[in-house]
Amino acid sequence: MSLLVFGSTALDSIATPKKKNPRLLGGSGSHAAVAASFFAAPKLIGVVGTDFPRKYISLLERHRVNLKGLKVREGKTFHWAGEYEVNMNNRRTLSTELGVVEGYSPVLPAAHRKAKYVLLANNPPGAQEAIIEQLDKPKFIVADTMDLWMNVAMNDLCSLLRRVDMLVLNDSESRQLTGDDNVVSAMPKLHKLGPRYVIVKKGEHGSILSSRRGLFVAPAFPLAKVEDPTGAGDSFVGAMTGYLAKTGGPIDASIRRAILYGSVVASFCCEGFGLSRTTKTTRTEINQRLRALEKMTRV
Ligand code: AMP
Repeated sequence: MSLLVFGSTALDSIATPKKKNPRLLGGSGSHAAVAASFFAAPKLIGVVGTDFPRKYISLLERHRVNLKGLKVREGKTFHWAGEYEVNMNNRRTLSTELGVVEGYSPVLPAAHRKAKYVLLANNPPGAQEAIIEQLDKPKFIVADTMDLWMNVAMNDLCSLLRRVDMLVLNDSESRQLTGDDNVVSAMPKLHKLGPRYVIVKKGEHGSILSSRRGLFVAPAFPLAKVEDPTGAGDSFVGAMTGYLAKTGGPIDASIRRAILYGSVVASFCCEGFGLSRTTKTTRTEINQRLRALEKMTRV
């Protein structure tokens, strides 16, 4: 079934203790759309500046990402710079330059309005809700967010959460949103904000899904070496929503497998800078890793 992905399309400058890589293709929308593309052909909505390299457009197209909703505006592409500590978990944002994102409000091409599966990857919650306003009978809406929006746009975020089916956030964001340190006791508080499905991500320690069916605990794929975790969260949610869109049936029938696919695609993302490893990954490798993960967790 059709899948719409709204998110940032960025140039990322990433520094780890070992390497620095400037102006790579990044953004929540790019990572999520490429991850989703292993399962469905996503329609990406976003904006880039006239400086956005042509080679990145070609790369997204090669991954059957539909770019009819990617607007090119005069000016600079959104640029994010971040730096990792030695443990590769703690990250510091060095700068965020909005560029052409400033003053941009997303408009869906007519053909995109009927999308059944919708992923609102990390972006300002007001812009995420503007997408919902334009949809014609969506089946399942997933929203990702970040601490920044809890700090600067809490009212918009609360308004958005009343209209989405699933919220995906990490454990520190769950703490910030509910004031509850315990992920399990935070779940009912997160459901109360609106979403019927909540996934709390815990980085290398996996994720927990809460729904009417109770809890599902999913591992992350264990990696001996992490090159760059930027975009792992977006890859997780992108692959998961892509798989749900591909199967198209009742959510409860496929959500657990969708989450495991999310863990697997996120693990490939961590093995290279930016999108470099994800874009070289094949569906065969993904299936092999899924089988390995199932084997590692079977009792
Ligand atoms: P993750 O590592 O999954 O948290 O995602 C990192 C990606 O989010 C990077 O590619 C950034 O370009 C993008 N990003 C960082 N800050 C923002 C923001 N304020 N709004 C939208 N996307 C962002």
